[in-house]
Amino acid sequence: MAATYRARDVLRHTFAVGCNRDCQALCDYLENRYEGKAMLCKNGRSALALALKAYFEPGDAVIVNGFTCYAVYEAVKAAGLIPVFADIDKDNLNFSVDTLEDALKTGPNHKKPTGIIVQNSLGNPMNITAIEDFAHKYDLTIIEDLAHCVGVKYPDGRECGTVGVAAAFSFGKDKVIDTISGGAVVFRGPTLHSVKTPSLRPRLSDHLRARFYPLFGATCRKLTGIHLGGLLMRFLVAIHWVEKSADNRLDLKRKISKFEAKLALKQFKNLRSSGELPIREFCLVKNREEVLKKLAHAGYYFDGIWYKQPVSPERYYKKIVFPEQDCPNSVFVTKHIINFPAYYKRECLMGAIAIVKDYVLEEEK
Ligand SMILES: *Cc1c(COP(=O)(O)O)cnc(C)c1O
Repeated sequence: MAATYRARDVLRHTFAVGCNRDCQALCDYLENRYEGKAMLCKNGRSALALALKAYFEPGDAVIVNGFTCYAVYEAVKAAGLIPVFADIDKDNLNFSVDTLEDALKTGPNHKKPTGIIVQNSLGNPMNITAIEDFAHKYDLTIIEDLAHCVGVKYPDGRECGTVGVAAAFSFGKDKVIDTISGGAVVFRGPTLHSVKTPSLRPRLSDHLRARFYPLFGATCRKLTGIHLGGLLMRFLVAIHWVEKSADNRLDLKRKISKFEAKLALKQFKNLRSSGELPIREFCLVKNREEVLKKLAHAGYYFDGIWYKQPVSPERYYKKIVFPEQDCPNSVFVTKHIINFPAYYKRECLMGAIAIVKDYVLEEEK
């Protein structure tokens, strides 16, 4: 994964060459593993939007986890649907049957939702059998968003991505499969509406940004100790050589870059053989700002918290209407959560764990 910023991985990414056969190979792999028809796309939100367009009517309401990223909201909107946010449980960051019941009562205009997006936040699997029973009871179509949970198993042993009528994948920065951008959708059940396969080549600017991001990211991280890294990164964003993940635009017509397809396939295969659970660990702390300051002082940069707003990041959250009063747990979690970034090795984290320990909220963990 590029987020580890190891020199070897950075070079491999920067100079990767892909061809049509790599795209076909990735499609074949996804179709085999997730048993459906695969399409490769520009990013995860485009993949999710295609999935939603294929199974819902414009104007339908769909239930969305009340702790998510703007990409999901954008996909729901792009498909012409109405998002209904459901509150989460503090211990696994996902909605539960109880909070789903509440969401059904409070949904906008009392329009009964017809679908549900299962996200398995940060790789924490849902109690899927309970969710399926719920979906069956209320006639809801399940779509799985695999951005956080490729390779994760549900408690009943089934793999994430093998339950819903469709599975949407993101290969964006910090996702389980990380090729900086790219995505895919697997249509598992018969579609209600046909959707067009993305056919336009990626924009050159997007291609170059995806290709060089690991190099820039690794350079900035090396410089972080002397605070130059942050400055350089801000400069690269200002001149549009680096794009913030949230700004990666939804585009249903653009294809994935071929080199990304090649790298993504490799990562899918590696993930399977390594057998590690790709979970980004989290905990809830009091006085988060103080903890982060202490961590930074000790050389740990726990920036990039997932998530600081119920629909992250903040500049997009401000633009949407989120029912904070109906989602108190989401609001609470976003004020207290910190994540252990995946680019630190476990044994390097002992110092950080010692710092965090004193601040962990007792009743939560
Ligand atoms: C990142 C993310 C996506 C898709 O993101 P893209 O940047 O469009 O690839 C979808 N769902 C969740 C939960 C995510 O975190």
